[in-house]
Amino acid sequence: MNLPHDDKTCGWYAALPAPRPVCVLAGQQTADCVIIGAGFAGLAAARRMASHEPAARILLVDAQRVAEGASGRNSGFVIDLPHKFALEHPDAAHKQRLLGLNRAAIAQLEALIATHRIDCQWSHAGKYQGAVGARGLAYLAHFEKLLAALGEPFRSVEQSELESVLGTRHYRRALFTPGCYLMQPAALVRGLADSLPGNVELLENSPILRLERDGQGGYVLHGADGRIRTRRLLLGTSIFTREFGYLKNRLLPVMTFASWTRPLDDDECRRYGGRFDWGLTPADHAGTTVRMTQDRRLLIRNTYRHVPRYGRSIDDATRAKIRGDHRQAFRARFPALADVPFTHTWGGVYAISRNFTNFFGQLDDGVFASACDNGVGAAWGTISGTLLADHAVGADSALLRDIRAVTGMPALNPPEPLLGLGVRSRIRLAAWNSRSEL
Ligand SMILES: Cc1cc2nc3c(=O)[nH]c(=O)nc-3n(C[C@H](O)[C@H](O)[C@H](O)COP(=O)(O)OP(=O)(O)OC[C@H]3O[C@@H](n4cnc5c(N)ncnc54)[C@H](O)[C@@H]3O)c2cc1C
Repeated sequence: MNLPHDDKTCGWYAALPAPRPVCVLAGQQTADCVIIGAGFAGLAAARRMASHEPAARILLVDAQRVAEGASGRNSGFVIDLPHKFALEHPDAAHKQRLLGLNRAAIAQLEALIATHRIDCQWSHAGKYQGAVGARGLAYLAHFEKLLAALGEPFRSVEQSELESVLGTRHYRRALFTPGCYLMQPAALVRGLADSLPGNVELLENSPILRLERDGQGGYVLHGADGRIRTRRLLLGTSIFTREFGYLKNRLLPVMTFASWTRPLDDDECRRYGGRFDWGLTPADHAGTTVRMTQDRRLLIRNTYRHVPRYGRSIDDATRAKIRGDHRQAFRARFPALADVPFTHTWGGVYAISRNFTNFFGQLDDGVFASACDNGVGAAWGTISGTLLADHAVGADSALLRDIRAVTGMPALNPPEPLLGLGVRSRIRLAAWNSRSEL
């Protein structure tokens, strides 16, 4: 089984205090329910399962420390609007369901953050979708039509107003949508893990190496130093779900990368001239995401890679090249800050499918999964994990019916080497076509 192999250079994680002492899987364990994967999906599933079954023993197991996976290393946008391809969906009811699901996730996160006082830069900041060149402007015009058809509020923001907020004249126009929230992902994920109900036991640095049936209708999960028997298994393992033998030829592992600066000092803030706490995603999705955090750091995210071996597919030379590309994107936007160094560069893996369809539901007797969010998993992971627990205990709700209606089976991939060739050339073509937006 290929295991997660995330780099140890994520800025969001490095900014956190030292984590609690770790508990690892050891010896022979029995649990009423096991959740593998402690990202947004697994954390939400564990919390909900605990509220359904307060007397049950629930184990939440991750191969790494909490927040070392994709959920702790993303760009920190918690989106309400259907994203990218979902917004193109011909059925208006489909998009309204997605909106409702995302907004339920935001409400859930907001309540948890308030209840448990999770310090994670949570902010109702909205989001800019920015265009640099003609290609970006064309995407923006299209996006504007889709938003109007959806009946969602937005505002067009021109270059001079953008400059006063973003501290750069790089963008010709943007659309501002108010429903997005921003956060520090590693802080949020750790806060969610630290506030789990008492009957959830979190086991970290405990990769599950093998899954087998126990011959009595249950499963045995094998770790390096221990085993767990259970009759119910929930997978919040995103792209790694295929390593357990499920959705095997249907998920595509994609990696994207970010770099950020240290907090700007007062003089640098004067040279910057913009505001704090905003986020911009590119009108053309192959372009560059930028954030200015509450603690004055600028973050740049772009570049995609096909990573069949996850983090192990990326060598040092590739990382150095990507960091150089981030530098170029940074200088183009903030020439007055050209001397401000990046302190961290990191990458993260997530799953996409060729038909942009998310999987949600039962995979086997007693095995359930939410996998493949097509790269926008903060809101989706939260709500799909929650509803997965509902599904596993046979509950019913309007949201559960909605998530069933908007999910399906990710399309089958062609065999290797055709798949790798196809994905790599599509990524290269998108990067070339979108070079004005990078
Ligand atoms: C740089 C970057 C920027 C992004 N920006 C955004 C954004 O702004 N907004 C947004 O919504 N999304 C964004 N995403 C995508 C988002 O991070 C993911 O979609 C989301 O985190 C997926 O959550 P998850 O809980 O489903 O899976 P993950 O967070 O990937 O969690 C899966 C967990 O399973 C564990 N695991 C896997 N195999 C095993 C095993 N064998 N044994 C035990 N544990 C195992 C892993 O260690 C991991 O912690 C971004 C991603 C990246 C990389």
